[in-house]
Amino acid sequence: MTLPPYPIRPDVLAFEPYAPGLSIDEIRARFGLESVVKMASNENPLGCSPLVQKALKDSAAYAFRYPQSGNPKLVAALASRHGLPPALIVPGNGSDELIDLLARVCPTPGEHNIVASRPSFSMYRIQSRLCGVAFRAVPLREDFSFDWRKLLAAVDHKTAIVFITTPDNPSGYCPPAAEVRDFAEALPPSCLLVVDEAYMDFSRDEAAFSLLPHFAGFSNLIILRTFSKSFGLAGIRLGYGIMPEFLADRLRSVHMPFSVNILAEATGIAALEDKAFYGETLRTVREGRAFLAGELAALDCRVYPSEANFLMFRLPASSGKNALQVFEELLSKGMIIRPLKSYGLPDHLRVSVGSPAENRLFLHLLREVLAP
Ligand code: PMP
Repeated sequence: MTLPPYPIRPDVLAFEPYAPGLSIDEIRARFGLESVVKMASNENPLGCSPLVQKALKDSAAYAFRYPQSGNPKLVAALASRHGLPPALIVPGNGSDELIDLLARVCPTPGEHNIVASRPSFSMYRIQSRLCGVAFRAVPLREDFSFDWRKLLAAVDHKTAIVFITTPDNPSGYCPPAAEVRDFAEALPPSCLLVVDEAYMDFSRDEAAFSLLPHFAGFSNLIILRTFSKSFGLAGIRLGYGIMPEFLADRLRSVHMPFSVNILAEATGIAALEDKAFYGETLRTVREGRAFLAGELAALDCRVYPSEANFLMFRLPASSGKNALQVFEELLSKGMIIRPLKSYGLPDHLRVSVGSPAENRLFLHLLREVLAP
């Protein structure tokens, strides 16, 4: 590679970019297919709510306006959803933006470090490195549960943030809230704990798994949530963080002024109002997850327990095909799932729970691919 004359940070040259799920249009064009189903990015199998679609149409005429600074109506709706003061809630352009903001605002580059598990959601590592902050990855246990003791051992007085994902991506594993609370209590107050609950609504029992009910007991806890999954707004880009007021003020003071745009604000409020769509989403995902898990196990796949809207699995050794081959063959049949090589798991695959028809189609195509 010939370098241009202008400066680019040498560490940025070596960056591995975020590996997104493939898009439907890409696969349609590559294989000349009419119909392609995507079960790769943990999107909502029901699409988005009719109230959200109406809010989009109603807001269209206001696209020329800047949103109100700080998105107070959306923040008020979220505060009421969680029974928390609005001052603790910071919305962002996806929860990705909050991960980025936290990595930029809290650690000092070259001095502090950030700790997370390996594998974990890649944005923790990518944003840490982009900010010039050392990233420490602590292996998960073999069953993909968190190794609390090792995580704690990786934390020192220069650790600014520990990231935990519950339910975890890519495995779907979710520790009981009491375990996460014990870990939070063991951390020094100088270290922030970010609990990324992007998939928490899909768990069988939020009260047993979420750290949100324990939020008030901590001065160093941040909880991240997103509208991309259970609310079906992945393309709109909306997430939020719940955090101590002092930190929330700091994030608001450096935040891009209008990163949560007028459509995101309107659709976020509409999504929160549509309790029927939300309930139907959770029911569809929980039932689909149990169905897929049972059927994959019946195919002799090793299926990992999941509280999220996806399942991680390994193919049976008897299939004679590796995960990448199966992924590619499914692609050529118009089915996109997620190979986990970019997570360092070349033998594992991840499939998002789809609609009942999508789940059946996925199983049908997988059976075809695995057939001798
Ligand atoms: N956290 C986790 C664990 C995720 O899997 C994702 C989505 N892939 C995100 C955060 C980012 O979500 P958003 O669309 O809100 O940026």
